[in-house]
Amino acid sequence: MFTMMNNARLAIGLEGVGVAERAYQHARTYAAERKQGRALDGSDESVAIDRHPDVRRMLLSMRAQTEAMRALAYYAAAALDAAKRHEDEAVRREKQALVDLLVPVVKAWSTDTGIEVANTGIQVLGGAGYIEESGAPQFLRDVRIAAIYEGTNGIQAMDLIGRKVAREDGVTAQALIADMRGLDGSLAEAQGDDTGAIRESLTEGIDALAEATDWIVATDPENPEAVAAGAVPYLRLLGLVAGGWLMAKAALAAEEGLRAGGDKAFLMDKLVSARFYADHVLVQAPALCRTVTRGWNAVGRFGDEDA
Ligand SMILES: Cc1cc2nc3c(=O)[nH]c(=O)nc-3n(C[C@H](O)[C@H](O)[C@H](O)COP(=O)(O)OP(=O)(O)OC[C@H]3O[C@@H](n4cnc5c(N)ncnc54)[C@H](O)[C@@H]3O)c2cc1C
Repeated sequence: MFTMMNNARLAIGLEGVGVAERAYQHARTYAAERKQGRALDGSDESVAIDRHPDVRRMLLSMRAQTEAMRALAYYAAAALDAAKRHEDEAVRREKQALVDLLVPVVKAWSTDTGIEVANTGIQVLGGAGYIEESGAPQFLRDVRIAAIYEGTNGIQAMDLIGRKVAREDGVTAQALIADMRGLDGSLAEAQGDDTGAIRESLTEGIDALAEATDWIVATDPENPEAVAAGAVPYLRLLGLVAGGWLMAKAALAAEEGLRAGGDKAFLMDKLVSARFYADHVLVQAPALCRTVTRGWNAVGRFGDEDA
């Protein structure tokens, strides 16, 4: 039963990734063709909307988040392969625990973010995006169900904090956090502008994830309701930081590839995505940690106001 559910949940997570990718491609093509407004450099000529900084920001937010989600889904899939096939039984057990931790994250984070990405796709198209014939609303409608079926994303988050983190005293989550911290030396050595900025956001993100994880383990025995109120923000925090860690690895590989004379356009795109992710997405991690650890106060009082 759990094997079937794990596979189905990974597949639904990939549904989020797939729809997000298609929504990005669709929005990017439209933005390169649609002319509206003037460039900020003072020239009179009408420009394609992908020249406007805010449209570029939207397009990059779609691309970078999709790349991070895809990286995490593949990382979980590789762990699943090792859990089944590694020759060492201890490694198989360790990888299975990692898969169990990551499955609800891949399912819920990739579908919640897929919805966000498809929604941004509509915004890129402006009024045309609201019109059915543009094709953009279809992406949002298709991915919207993925947060509901195969266990709602709220239930995935409850599974993560309860069965996957609190019940094993955060052991697997802490092991993953230690792996993430292991990248710091390579980022420090790289000394590039991009990898320097990525390192800063990643360190803050990992610290936030570690703090929230410790808080869940310490708080769950005495106040499980408080922990449950932070379940969804915690799942988002874990997805966001794990995705940022894998994007940082991609940035290091891209820098190395550039030095070795690899495909410049592809590798520069990777670096830009990773840098965007660090400056625009990963920086949300400390705020999410605060929501996890303080969120219960108002949630606990909600509904009692009239009493
Ligand atoms: C288009 C579509 C296709 C579907 N296909 C299938 C299918 O092929 N096979 C199948 O078996 N099912 C299928 N479903 C059913 C789907 O899995 C359920 O709709 C889903 O699990 C949510 O259950 P529910 O609708 O009863 O909502 P509810 O369980 O009533 O949930 C409502 C809200 O309350 C929250 N909630 C409920 N319990 C808790 C709790 N204990 N703690 C915290 N929050 C909670 C939920 O997260 C949700 O936000 C499909 C549904 C749709 C809409």
